[in-house]
Amino acid sequence: MASEENFMRVPAPTHKPRTVYTEAMEVFDRTADLIGLDKRVRLELEEPDYEHIFYVTAKLKDRLVPLSAEESQAFSDLSVTQVRNPDGLERLADGKIILNGRALLGSDVNIRRGHLRLPDGAVYQLVPGESQRFKAYRVQHNQARGPYKGGIRFHREVSLDLFKALAAEMTWKTAIAEVPFGGGKGGIQIDPRQFGREELENITLRFMYRLKGLIGPNIDIPAPDVGTNGEIMALMYRQYSDGERERHNLRGIVTGKDVRIGGSEGRVKATGQGVVYCIEDYYAERGESLKGKTFVLQGFGNVGSNAAQILSGMGARLLAVNDADGTVFNGDGIDVAALTAFVQDPKNLRRSVLGFPGAQRIEKKDLWEVPADILLPAALGGEITAEIAENIKVKLVAEGANGPTTPDADRVLQRRGIEMIPDIIANAGGVTVSYYEWIQNKRMERWTEAEVDQRLEFAMKRNYRIIRDISKNQGRRTDMHDSRRYTVGKEVDTRCAAMVLALKRIEAHYLLEGFSQ
Ligand code: NAD
Repeated sequence: MASEENFMRVPAPTHKPRTVYTEAMEVFDRTADLIGLDKRVRLELEEPDYEHIFYVTAKLKDRLVPLSAEESQAFSDLSVTQVRNPDGLERLADGKIILNGRALLGSDVNIRRGHLRLPDGAVYQLVPGESQRFKAYRVQHNQARGPYKGGIRFHREVSLDLFKALAAEMTWKTAIAEVPFGGGKGGIQIDPRQFGREELENITLRFMYRLKGLIGPNIDIPAPDVGTNGEIMALMYRQYSDGERERHNLRGIVTGKDVRIGGSEGRVKATGQGVVYCIEDYYAERGESLKGKTFVLQGFGNVGSNAAQILSGMGARLLAVNDADGTVFNGDGIDVAALTAFVQDPKNLRRSVLGFPGAQRIEKKDLWEVPADILLPAALGGEITAEIAENIKVKLVAEGANGPTTPDADRVLQRRGIEMIPDIIANAGGVTVSYYEWIQNKRMERWTEAEVDQRLEFAMKRNYRIIRDISKNQGRRTDMHDSRRYTVGKEVDTRCAAMVLALKRIEAHYLLEGFSQ
């Protein structure tokens, strides 16, 4: 019979199914073996501290849903409803329109069987708003080095497994960036482009209402990620601090806020800027500059568009961009400022690069085969598969996105001699400046953009140099960095080298401080 202790112990799974999380942890396992990571530290890091799943409900607004041309025929003689206050109509990326009551105030409304024709000529069905439930998550992976820290993602394709992987990545990244945080990640299963402003506000407020008991400025600090931005962070701050006596002391509950309400100068561009500092340092080591280099980009959101603007300002040429809606190409170079203006134009409801007049449309599969110096994935995870890795025609991959390269693809890139700046260093600029924001909030200070950029550049290059030294097995001390503590006695690939740095820094906390019982 099993002893009580054996009976109580949760057995280790003998065969783990392959998931996003197990794939993301492959490099952890490989590196933990390589450096002989302390057994108990390994157990602590293999699974998150906490996995929260909860639900958020919200009452949606009335919508006008467009009919197809065929369906509209039944209403061919329906006359147009003149909209007195067009500001009350909010057009969504999916073609539907949020109908705010004020839109039709004072208008002569022609409704037949719940349908009306708008001045654009199309017939719409009026669908009353109903309550809807959304699944929400917060994974708190590890806090050995400081409060949990990580973004909030609003996206349709999220899961507990994905958030576990992203939260673990944050633990590694905060250690690499040398900021006093651990790792967390969360968000809501929702396509934010299908909801109106007020709806997103209500959903965000309700989300924070449920999250409030789990987080705090010294416990767990969210930030923007895919589908969220400074506006969402402002709402989260308001909801967290509403009615509190010392609400200004709580400003550090989220980072990535607008600079006018306690955000840091330089935070919006920080992740893109950090990627560029790494790329610049990569070329500087070879005695080269970014002038005349070409690059291909996936994702033109916060990270992608900012990296592209900075790279083009340094003389590099953008040849092709892909986003959720399509891909555009211009062999002579895409005008990044014009593309940014096109994407941010309020008439561009999808915020997409598709339709940009300064480039031609190509298929997504062709993006990967555009010859260039640099490929910069800055969209979602798992995009660079082994098949794509076999065909890409670039010399360097700089991972702006989290986990864009699958482990199989990673092996292909290594075999093909394509260099890699892995995500946990490449996109660490965002969390680094989030830390600067958090400190400024705590101290009630404001730093200039030049000060932020200078600190960020030093931090990114210093830690990236340690990683390159680990990779080359070249422990050394310079004015800027000291890598002697971290080398492992042989050369390793850069992704593994980055993980060595993360694990050694985290392990030190457990070994020196011990484990709380
Ligand atoms: P964002 O929402 O601002 O932009 C996302 C971009 O990806 C958009 O252009 C969108 O069209 C595109 N996209 C979405 N689905 C796609 C698909 N299926 N195929 C191609 N393109 C697609 O998000 P962001 O903040 O720029 O984040 C991008 C990546 O960078 C994510 O992996 C995120 O985790 C990572 N990251 C962001 C930050 C940050 O500070 N925002 C920090 C570190 C890492």
